Amino acid sequence: MSNILVFTETTNGGAPAGSTAALIGAAASVGTPIVLAVTTADRSPTLIEVLSQCGAARVVLVELNEQSAKLGAAEVASLERAVQEFSPLAVILDHSPIGRMVAGRLAARTGAAIAADAVGLSLEADEVIATHSVFGGDYVTESTVEGGLMIITLRSGAISARASSAQPEVSRMNVPDDASPSATIIGTDPLVMESERPDLAAASIVVSGGRGIGSKENFSLVEQLADSLGAAVGASRAAVDAGYAPQNFQVGQTGVAVSPDLYVALGISGAIQHKAGMQTAKTIVAIDKNEEAPILEVADFGIVGDLFSVVPQLVEEINRRRG
Ligand code: FAD
Repeated sequence: MSNILVFTETTNGGAPAGSTAALIGAAASVGTPIVLAVTTADRSPTLIEVLSQCGAARVVLVELNEQSAKLGAAEVASLERAVQEFSPLAVILDHSPIGRMVAGRLAARTGAAIAADAVGLSLEADEVIATHSVFGGDYVTESTVEGGLMIITLRSGAISARASSAQPEVSRMNVPDDASPSATIIGTDPLVMESERPDLAAASIVVSGGRGIGSKENFSLVEQLADSLGAAVGASRAAVDAGYAPQNFQVGQTGVAVSPDLYVALGISGAIQHKAGMQTAKTIVAIDKNEEAPILEVADFGIVGDLFSVVPQLVEEINRRRG
């Protein structure tokens, strides 16, 4: 089996990002997953434990210190060295802002090709085939690289494959010397997460509101349904532009791409740019008063009705059943 290099991001608390199990699962479906994680020495033991549970065959830890290069330089240089050492068939990263940034810089350094925003992987004749959902999910395309390294960013939530737990061989790599800092960070202002809701990109349930919600105040209806389901909250661009929801809630082509188990659209017509970010959801429920709204063409369950009448009943019933 060919080596597949996986780059796992870590949270500020040092835990592997939520996408880790899916990235390793995808890698294991086409080869042997070698996981590279950039961390600090005190966080390594927990990290190794989680990566074992996720099925890493080998773990390469790059331990940072105060002097280490910042802003992705250490990650890119370490991955480049790991590519030289393990000659992987492919490098897999999350399609997150960090994953995309690292993927692009690694491709520039190694001369590799990138397959961005893949929703599936397969192996054919020793070539990794990446599957993409394009044009708002209306088409599925495949891409590969004939000879040479392939760098793939995977859409969070799109991969259901999981690897069995393993006992990985663990090695440590010093941050390569050529990872010189390209900038100096003179201060940081941590963003305080005010919400206890799940992260939008990785959530298994997403409830989104569109222009049909009508006002910022009414958007609390979206939040009520989301909270009754334990879901993340999303929005269409029209809702964001109208100021009903913050920009980081936007789902779609120019927002976050989500692939949850359940996506609930409230007052969203289903423009192609919105569908581009949610059509790979496993089950789609849409509530819209217009029976010709395009969202109803992709919905598994569509409710034609006034959301201000339907959603409160839904919330009440869900809360009643949950006791
Ligand atoms: P509308 O299209 O106005 O739909 C509102 C829906 O609410 C209608 O179907 C209506 O019937 C329904 N409704 C109204 N009142 C009620 C009610 N009381 N009860 C039930 N239903 C009701 N859009 C995105 O979402 N994400 C993107 O990333 C994105 N990127 C874009 C990039 C580009 C380059 C461009 C040009 C556009 C992009 N857009 C994006 C915008 C996109 O084209 C649409 O304009 C937008 O998605 C529409 O949002 P909406 O469905 O909320 O609004």
